[in-house]
Amino acid sequence: MPCKLVAGNWKMNGLRADLDEMRALIAAHPDPDCGMLICPPATLLAPMADLAQGSRLLVGGQDCHTAKSGAHTGDLSADMLADAGARHVILGHSERRADHGEGSDLVAAKARAAQEAGLTAIICVGETEAQRDAGTTLEVVLGQLLESVPDGANAGNTVIAYEPVWAIGTGRTPTLEQIAEVHDALRAAVPDAEMSLLYGGSVKPGNAADIFALANVDGALVGGASLKASDFGAIIAAL
Ligand code: PGA
Repeated sequence: MPCKLVAGNWKMNGLRADLDEMRALIAAHPDPDCGMLICPPATLLAPMADLAQGSRLLVGGQDCHTAKSGAHTGDLSADMLADAGARHVILGHSERRADHGEGSDLVAAKARAAQEAGLTAIICVGETEAQRDAGTTLEVVLGQLLESVPDGANAGNTVIAYEPVWAIGTGRTPTLEQIAEVHDALRAAVPDAEMSLLYGGSVKPGNAADIFALANVDGALVGGASLKASDFGAIIAAL
């Protein structure tokens, strides 16, 4: 059985005062039935990892460099994330692909670096609205999967997140049939059938249970609704 996981992506949000939300989350969910992960901005990684000590909360990074160290101003290596307490790292998020021109080859190289550092890579794939309208969703998503997932990826070191670009932060979600179609195709295409498949894009307390009821959905990657402990907790409780 693939592991169940609800992952929160805080993106460029969160100051130290917001760690109170994590205290509330840990207090409300001492023993969740699934993995419970928050990927805060890098500035909060170490304090959040300290706060999570002894609890079921996992913390992760939102990106990493391909190299272990070196002259790369502003970048963070997978080793640095692990050293700060991360267990996971999100890679190939559509905001990185769009804002930083990251292609699938680079995502695969980052995922290899994550593997070497002992981190689980959460590799994101997803179509734009134009690609969905053109009927190329499966081609795009499966192409990104093939190119972004490196050799050596398995259920222990890799999670796949299907995130339609047009559903991120928009309040719009695909129909359950559309989510199921992509997740079924991903299940057939991943190199290890036990790999967890997350859905991401406008997941909220109100739609999580229906999405989680789909056969090949093993959890969610949550943006906006991960910032509030009450909303994120309700999504965890729905899995
Ligand atoms: P959203 O973001 O939940 O705010 O739509 C999801 C994501 O970008 O991972």
